Order: sequence, then structure tokens, then C-alpha cells
Amino acid sequence: IEKIQEAAANGRTAFSFEYFPPKTEEGVENLFERMDRMVAHGPNFCDITWGAGGSTADVTLDIANRMQNMVCVETMMHLTCTNMPVEKIDSALDAIKSNGIQNVLALRGDPPHGQDKFVQVAGGFSCALDLVQHIRAKYGDYFGITVAGYPEAHPEVILGEEGATDEAYSNDLAYLKRKVDAGADLIVTQLFYDTDIFLKFVNDCRQIGITCPIVPGIMPINNYKGFIRMTGFCKTKIPAEITAALEPIKDNEEAVKAYGIHLGTEMCKKILATGINTLHLYTLNMEKTALAILTNLGLIEESKLSRTLPWRPPTNVFRV
Ligand code: FAD
Repeated sequence: IEKIQEAAANGRTAFSFEYFPPKTEEGVENLFERMDRMVAHGPNFCDITWGAGGSTADVTLDIANRMQNMVCVETMMHLTCTNMPVEKIDSALDAIKSNGIQNVLALRGDPPHGQDKFVQVAGGFSCALDLVQHIRAKYGDYFGITVAGYPEAHPEVILGEEGATDEAYSNDLAYLKRKVDAGADLIVTQLFYDTDIFLKFVNDCRQIGITCPIVPGIMPINNYKGFIRMTGFCKTKIPAEITAALEPIKDNEEAVKAYGIHLGTEMCKKILATGINTLHLYTLNMEKTALAILTNLGLIEESKLSRTLPWRPPTNVFRV
């Protein structure tokens, strides 16, 4: 957590950008052009997701390597247990280690497409906790490990409209603590749109002794259908004022984007005002909304469009 602590000491806010692997080669090249421009604004790290069911393993590994060694940004690769016997997990970890990447987001993963339940593969792991334990046992302190946290509890334990029961929420938190106790250095949260829920979650984590940084995962609204799909999938609560603001403009793409920037800015302002000084932006591979929010917050300079960053040797960003 060296860089995040450094940022705190200097009164600076740390921010990071998340990307997913595009489906085509052309998409990958476009992504790198965009990433290059975005990295010019100085994120503390960038991360690349692992396709559901291991579907993008090779592309994710390639992109992670290029991010670390050609874009020259501290890179965190996501890794899930879905369809991954331990040999495959180790070969992915060995590959990124040999490319100098020192940061992993350790996840269980969702079930592969077409299945509705996570099934542990033979010789594989049943949950992210197993993966964290394995990485620490086999690779010592080489990797900085991040895990996922769920301010509204994991969707599998949310059974009704009202959200998780108090008991399910507490169990979820206790399990999150086990992931941290097993060696995770950082928590990045699932998306949320009710900032109070996130702030309560941070408080509840502190109450049960979770001391590592908890980074809010901010997913700016870029389009209405995508927003409804994601919040439905993740069972995210949508505050009434957001529904009221979106309903009349939902068919107007530009208006939805502008609202997404406004809302993202206000959410981040409220979070930063509490003294939390880290933001993780789910960019969905888009540039403008994330950068507009950071510009509104005064965290980046609008004019800084070209970059002159020299190559730096990779470092594990999360460990002191
Ligand atoms: P886990 O931490 O293993 O567990 C999820 C939930 O199951 C827990 O919250 C708890 O309720 C329950 N649980 C599991 N094991 C136990 C136990 N032993 N005891 C008690 N309760 C338990 N998916 C991808 O496919 N690729 C990605 O790149 C990706 N990136 C993500 C990034 C972030 C920041 C987040 C929040 C999610 C991401 N996901 C990704 C989605 C994630 O894979 C799913 O949410 C998945 O269903 C759970 O993964 P997890 O690591 O949280 O699982």
C-alpha cells in the first residue's frame, strides 16, 4: 500500500482505472490508445479483468503484460477460480510474475455462461479465500493482493427486494475479514449508487477489525440500458432520486451521460469529504466520463493530454 499511503501523506487522492479485454484485435488496439491517454493523468494503478469462466485468459495475460511493460503503468490483473485447476492458476501467476507484474485481484468468479451456480473445478478452489491463501503460501509477499468487497453483500445472499438480511450481511463481512486476514492488502468494492451504503460498509468493516484500505468502486452511468443491466445483475439498490432523474431522460444518450458525470462527481465528492482518498473507476473501457469526473473533482488537469512519463521499474503497489 506504499503508493496509497504516500498519496495520503501528501494529501493527494489516489485513483485507478479498470478495463476489460475487448473481443477483437482492433478493439484491443483502440483500448491501448485510450489507455495511453488516460494514464497520462497519473492513475496509481490500472487493472484488467479476467473474463467470466476464464474465457479471456490469454487476452487478459497479454493485455496485462503490455500495460505493465509498454504503457508503463502499475498493473493489477484480475484472476478467478472459475474453471481453473491449480496448475492453470499457477501458470497465469508465473506468467505475470515473469513479466514483472506484482498485483493481483483474487476472485472466485461467476459461474460460466449458461450455468447459474459456481462449481468448484476438480483440483481447483471453491472461493477467493482459497486463492488468497494459495497465492500467499506459494508466492510469499511477491504479490500485492486485492479482494472484492460488497457494500450491499454478495448478490448470492440477497434474496429479496429489501436486500440482504442483517445476518447474511454480517456473515459476508466476517468472510471478507477472513480474506484480509489470509493476506489481502486492499479491498475494492462492488459498484454502488447509494453512497451512504458504502460509508456504512466501511464503518462496519472497521468495527470488525478490517484495517486495510477500502477503495470505492465507482461505475459512472454511461447509458441507461447498461445501467439497468448491471444494477439488475449485481442487485444494486438504486436511490429514488436517481430513478427520478433518469426516467425522463432515459432515451437521450447525451443527457444520460451528462447526468452520469454529475452523479459520479457528487458521489466521489461525498466520499472524499469523509477523508477517504482513493477512488477506483470502472471505466467500461470508456474515457470521457471517467476523465470528466476526475476533472470536476480537480484531480486531473484537462489540458494534460500528452504524457512524458519515463519508464519505471515495476513495484508492488500495495505492500509497504
Ligand atoms: P468470494 O469472495 O469467494 O465469495 C463471494 C461470496 O460468497 C462472499 O461474499 C460470501 O457471501 C460467499 N462465500 C464464499 N465463500 C465463503 C465461505 N468460505 N464462507 C462464507 N461465505 C462465503 N468476475 C470475473 O469473472 N472477472 C473479473 O475480473 C471480476 N472482477 C471483479 C472485480 C471486483 C472489484 C468485484 C467486486 C467483482 C468482480 N468480479 C469479476 C465478479 C466476481 O467474480 C463475482 O462477484 C463472484 O460471484 C464472487 O467473487 P468473489 O471473489 O467476491 O468471491
